[in-house]
Amino acid sequence: MNTPQPTHPDHATLPSEHSVAKQLFLGNIVEENLFPYPQIRARDQEMLGAMTDAIDQFLNDKTAALKQYDRDAEQPAEFIQALRDMGLFGLIIPEAFGGLELSNGAYARVLGQTSSHDSSVSLTIGAHSSIGMKGLLLFGSDEQKQRYLPRLATGELIAAFCLTEAGAGSDAASIRTKAMRNDDGSWTLSGEKIWITNGGIADFYTVFARTDTAEGKITAFLVEAAWPGVSHGPHEDKMGIRASSTTTVAFAKVRVPPENVLGPVGKGFKVAMSILNSGRTGLGGGAVGGMRSLIRLASAQAQERKQFGQPIAEFGLVRAKIAQMTVDCFAAESAVWIVAHLIDSGAADYSVEAAMSKVFASEAVQRASYEALQIAAGNGFMRDFPYEQITRDTRILSIFEGTNEILRLYIALSGLKGVGTGLSELKAAVGDIFNDPIKGFGVLGSYTGRRMREATGYGIDRIAQALSPRLRKVAATYERYTVELSKSSDQLLRRYGKKATDQQHAQKRLADIAIDLFIGLCVLSRAHSLEQQSHAAADEAISIAEIFTRQARRRMSRNVRGLERNEDAAIEQLAGAVLGNGGYLWDVI
Ligand SMILES: Cc1cc2nc3c(=O)[nH]c(=O)nc-3n(C[C@H](O)[C@H](O)[C@H](O)COP(=O)(O)OP(=O)(O)OC[C@H]3O[C@@H](n4cnc5c(N)ncnc54)[C@H](O)[C@@H]3O)c2cc1C
Repeated sequence: MNTPQPTHPDHATLPSEHSVAKQLFLGNIVEENLFPYPQIRARDQEMLGAMTDAIDQFLNDKTAALKQYDRDAEQPAEFIQALRDMGLFGLIIPEAFGGLELSNGAYARVLGQTSSHDSSVSLTIGAHSSIGMKGLLLFGSDEQKQRYLPRLATGELIAAFCLTEAGAGSDAASIRTKAMRNDDGSWTLSGEKIWITNGGIADFYTVFARTDTAEGKITAFLVEAAWPGVSHGPHEDKMGIRASSTTTVAFAKVRVPPENVLGPVGKGFKVAMSILNSGRTGLGGGAVGGMRSLIRLASAQAQERKQFGQPIAEFGLVRAKIAQMTVDCFAAESAVWIVAHLIDSGAADYSVEAAMSKVFASEAVQRASYEALQIAAGNGFMRDFPYEQITRDTRILSIFEGTNEILRLYIALSGLKGVGTGLSELKAAVGDIFNDPIKGFGVLGSYTGRRMREATGYGIDRIAQALSPRLRKVAATYERYTVELSKSSDQLLRRYGKKATDQQHAQKRLADIAIDLFIGLCVLSRAHSLEQQSHAAADEAISIAEIFTRQARRRMSRNVRGLERNEDAAIEQLAGAVLGNGGYLWDVI
């Protein structure tokens, strides 16, 4: 589902070509891609230090102005110019085209810094880099890159990504915007896109349209806002990220020259999915930055506010919130960093890991904003304080760049696909065993090995790192539940066959087990690395690994049990009754 990006300079290639996330469904922990925890590169460290300082200096003075932009639902032109002047539109563009050529990890960290001040700022920059012009970086021809990247790097051109339509949200393949090929090889583009981030300020759109060719149904195009027939609607009046531009973008018989087709004709859906997959670290990095800021705000609030004669920070229920926010932030950050490293190292297959980190980070920051507001309580509800805006701003994160429901289904179905392939190989091998005994026994051998692990838990490849006793215990939980995930996936496929794709309740449980495993393994790898470096806060990091693992174990155990014993049928029936009635069924009068 994704195109490997060129290995970032300074990044080694990965030891294993297997997807860590997909292998979990087969009962394997691809340890060599998780350990050692990737360290920040010298070049990134140097650049990040300078950039984060510059961002702080610029945005620290602007707290009141940023709040006003939120009220006005607009970033003024001079503010966007200041973002250009800081180089924030060229973050991931290669130096050869005038950009800063940050790695994905460093890029995620920069978005974390802007998000710690204001999410709309991150969105303006992020929609440009993560999705607006990412297609050009991944699929553009040399000529297209020469023509556009230098101006995209300076922000002279701002980019937007135009996929969604009124009738095509999650079901993006059902878009109706059309591009008809003309005799001279150019295309005529007609249709309307909705909710396009940067729609009102962009000069450069990556647009997806139905072309219905023999090669495929959808094609991607690079479209300039200045071309005749391109227009955008007014800024949407949104709940959150209000200052970032969101508009409709309309194409009325726009002539697109043949040299502006992006990637192969008919392969636009793959282009769109590759962009979204590789863009998710930006969103995750932003969520982590938001959490860091919430932890800082909530800690200060808890220490300043006194009730019952003491700072509320001394009450267990307040401390529990601060600690949980910290566990979630560390976990999300560990996963986002590992996913960014996978992309930077040219991994062929990282889409499931990227989806997992997006789901976890987007939900973690929403929990954190809820709890930080709760600590501030009445003050938190007042617009003079930042919590209400953060709560509004973070809500979008589980809606766009793939809703979290769709991503959970994607995670489960991608994992099940690998298990299903194994089952069909087994069937074929059993049939073939007398014709080609070596091949047959080979497949059979690896299959029975897995079944044996599933049945007994014995013989699992133990994590080979020399872990300290506390982390050894942590690792044992992930070893055990990786086997459980494989066993549960196998059982689901045997029970339902191809109909397993209809079992959304079960898919959610499998996805949640897999997310806990992947995020937990990222935390384990990082805690181990900090311990080995004798980091000043290594002990706290190990505690986080222990806390996360205990919590994850309870969730995983519940999800494994829920696959067998649940109230799914009753829930389906109840939903049917309410939907049939058009609402709630009871009243006291
Ligand atoms: C502020 C904002 C900015 C945006 N920016 C951009 C942008 O820059 N470019 C762009 O192209 N798009 C953008 N979008 C669109 C965004 O990506 C879509 O909103 C998103 O994909 C979901 O589509 P939808 O809102 O139509 O929801 P729907 O697809 O209508 O989904 C509604 C609900 O049903 C659930 N659902 C749908 N299908 C299934 C299923 N098969 N199984 C289970 N549950 C399902 C969903 O998870 C969701 O909860 C933006 C949206 C917003 C709000």
